[in-house]
Amino acid sequence: MAEVLVYVDHVDGAVRKPTLELLTLARRIGEPVAVHLGPGADTAAATLAEHGAVKVLTADAPEFADYLVAPKVDALQAAYEAVSPAAVLLPSSTEGKEIGARLAVRIGSGIITDAVDLEAGDEGPVATQSVFAASYTTKSRITKGTPVITVKPNSAAPEAAPAAGTVEQLTVTVADASKGTKVVSRTPRESTGRPDLTEAAIVVSGGRGVNGAENFPVIEALADSLGAAVGASRAAVDAGWYPHTNQVGQTGKSVSPQLYIAAGISGAIQHRAGMQTSKTIVAINKDAEAPIFDLVDYGVVGDLFEVVPALTDEVKARKG
Ligand SMILES: Cc1cc2nc3c(=O)[nH]c(=O)nc-3n(C[C@H](O)[C@H](O)[C@H](O)COP(=O)(O)OP(=O)(O)OC[C@H]3O[C@@H](n4cnc5c(N)ncnc54)[C@H](O)[C@@H]3O)c2cc1C
Repeated sequence: MAEVLVYVDHVDGAVRKPTLELLTLARRIGEPVAVHLGPGADTAAATLAEHGAVKVLTADAPEFADYLVAPKVDALQAAYEAVSPAAVLLPSSTEGKEIGARLAVRIGSGIITDAVDLEAGDEGPVATQSVFAASYTTKSRITKGTPVITVKPNSAAPEAAPAAGTVEQLTVTVADASKGTKVVSRTPRESTGRPDLTEAAIVVSGGRGVNGAENFPVIEALADSLGAAVGASRAAVDAGWYPHTNQVGQTGKSVSPQLYIAAGISGAIQHRAGMQTSKTIVAINKDAEAPIFDLVDYGVVGDLFEVVPALTDEVKARKG
């Protein structure tokens, strides 16, 4: 069976959930071979094997941390040359997309970004994308070279499928040209204790209807009761009520959770562009004519200051 390279997104060997989703999808088109760069391969290997990696190719070098993505592209290219895979899968993070695009250029292949599903086809893997602010669903196949495909978080549920997970060292030569941009400092982001917005299974977002930074704790309380991330519309962010890093939409972050709750958000096309692939969408808006109601699975016409706290209390009560 053909091998499929899966780029591992991890923090010191703690494998992030989108990689486990990629392994699940990779098994539909071949045998997953994980590529783990940087420290923590021993810790990661067990998790990767548990989720179907037949092999784990690892390389650790200071260059992976000291420079931007180019040394990682050198490593993934080395893995590609060692394995001759049927496809290369990466998470659709900013870094994943840049690594994937650079690799595709180097190996003369086509790339599909932001896939939301993947299946085996007679002539190679077929990716599903949600395009033009999710107005269309397309299925595409790469016709040139080895398919390089980036997949959005939450596109598949990770499934355990124990495999050998044999760890092998990957020999990587980092090219001088890959050291053009050096990382000179790093500042850890302050942790809110909430899941990462782009990876969260549930997102609760607030818009202009929240009516002030002082009211955002109402949104946060619902998010915390559900173990969710907090998002915001651009109107809320531009007003300074919530950080720009939490903006969902065309010029913000693209999210695709299992559940998206929009409170006090009208549903402008630019907001929809970032959340319309969410599996289940719930809107709370006091205007029954708000365009957001055109795309929801469940709509609540009401004042968010009544509905959201009531929902939070109900969630807490049911959780006990
Ligand atoms: C180039 C460009 C890029 C953009 N990128 C983005 C983007 O990435 N993300 C984004 O979100 N927007 C983006 N926008 C802005 C977008 O067009 C909208 O202006 C914005 O999404 C509106 O935010 P909103 O829904 O919170 O506010 P509004 O459109 O003002 O809607 C507020 C809603 O809250 C409801 N409401 C008010 N009070 C309550 C209450 N008490 N209870 C319940 N409901 C209440 C109202 O009925 C209304 O529907 C972009 C615009 C442009 C031009």
